[in-house]
Amino acid sequence: MRPATIGIIGGTGLGELLLKQAGGEALTIDTPFGAPSGPIVRGSWAGAEVAFLPRHGPRHTLNPSVVPYRANIWALKQLGVTTVIASGAAGSLRQEMHPGELVVCDQVIDRTFRRESTFFEAGPVVHVAFADPFCPRLRQALLRAAQQVQTPVHDRGTYICIEGPQFSTRAEAHLHRQWAGDLVGMTCLPEAKLAREAEMCYALIALATDYDCWRPAPPGGHDELVKEVLANLQRGSEAAAELIRVTLALLPAEAGGCGCGTALDLAVWSDLSATEAATRTRLAPLLARFEAARAGK
Ligand SMILES: [Zn+2]
Repeated sequence: MRPATIGIIGGTGLGELLLKQAGGEALTIDTPFGAPSGPIVRGSWAGAEVAFLPRHGPRHTLNPSVVPYRANIWALKQLGVTTVIASGAAGSLRQEMHPGELVVCDQVIDRTFRRESTFFEAGPVVHVAFADPFCPRLRQALLRAAQQVQTPVHDRGTYICIEGPQFSTRAEAHLHRQWAGDLVGMTCLPEAKLAREAEMCYALIALATDYDCWRPAPPGGHDELVKEVLANLQRGSEAAAELIRVTLALLPAEAGGCGCGTALDLAVWSDLSATEAATRTRLAPLLARFEAARAGK
């Protein structure tokens, strides 16, 4: 089998849906950062070689704070993945982003506070650029594909990533709106940061499941609301699967020019000889070309 180059990280809804659809080999992988959320299913889907990983585990047992984000990205990197399409359920902070619709996010605000968010905690010091957190090439491919799906797809959105697992207070929801947030979710970070450090192209499709609590809930009570959220999640997941299927066919034509694959250039600030040999060995998949350049001096 050729190396898998497209990784798909399925969030709530899509994870379960794709796990049923994706055929192929289930790989149990270990990484220097522990085990990923579950086996990675590697196979062909929609004519592409894909590696699929449900973010919350095969039985949805990992809450957003304990998802092994570093192991997940590292495991995909080990499989040769260079491009990651991720999905995640989110609450809408905007009237015009209706529940059941999709958003190809373009910005994110980090409100998490208890997650490991870098591969480089033990050195070297690495500062990757993150002004544009999502790959522009991949976003464009998703937006071109969006023209071929029935569900409305918003072409941009600022995702506020909260720690969870509790939802926001009403005061926080209003604050997030004042910050120009469009969606609130719990899983985009540190995933997107780690993908950048791993020099992978990464984009996020957010599935709006409901309006966050800034908006008064419609009459019908809690049970009705939960039923509606689940229905939107199902609808959004099916739409996201369709969007990804169409995108996979477009991707080869969109290759190159985004700079994700060289994100560490100019980002490594330490003299590598000052980092412990064991750490350098552990991080070799990311640092190999810098080590080679250093050796060639
Ligand atoms: Zn890219």
